[in-house]
Amino acid sequence: MVNMTRRQFLKVSATTLAGSSLALMGFSPTAALAEVRQYKLARTTETRNTCTYCAVGCGILMYSLGDGAKNAKASIIHIEGDPDHPVNRGTLCPKGASLLDIVHSESRILYPEYRAPGSDKWQRISWEDALDRIAQLMKQDRDANFIEKTADGKTVNRWVTTGMLAASAASNEVGYLTHKTMRSLGTLAFDNQARV
Ligand code: SF4
Repeated sequence: MVNMTRRQFLKVSATTLAGSSLALMGFSPTAALAEVRQYKLARTTETRNTCTYCAVGCGILMYSLGDGAKNAKASIIHIEGDPDHPVNRGTLCPKGASLLDIVHSESRILYPEYRAPGSDKWQRISWEDALDRIAQLMKQDRDANFIEKTADGKTVNRWVTTGMLAASAASNEVGYLTHKTMRSLGTLAFDNQARV
């Protein structure tokens, strides 16, 4: 006697039934299954990017629907590893492979927000306002706390009250420029997430 689970039994019965009924109607399942399936990404737009999650910085390919036609809103429907990227050569870890979830997450932050001191509410601001505010606060803090010389007269030009953590998704060139910019301001507390 052949051992068969209930699930296998139902599968075999359904296949046999479907096959015999279709054959009676003159339809060949073998020929139908041999048909070329339509490539699901054929009408998508491909965009290169970097995984947002960790310091490895794997390259990704994002595929979106919506070809710019009137009223067609673009939406990312598939993400996979970039085979041409030198870091990951097309592979992604489980976190990277589930990037679509973060893209469509309802709690994903899409724009800068500001919460005034004492307030319990966040308000949306423009990128321009956010960058202006960051620049103003940096300048205020640097002007107030910059150390040009130590007590015994040695020139140090330090700014130790503000730190900077650069993003791992940046390229080597962006990392180099970020480092130069922060060091030229006198910042000592500086690191990159790629090292974390
Ligand atoms: S795919 Fe995985 S290993 Fe690569 S950057 Fe994303 S989280 Fe890191």
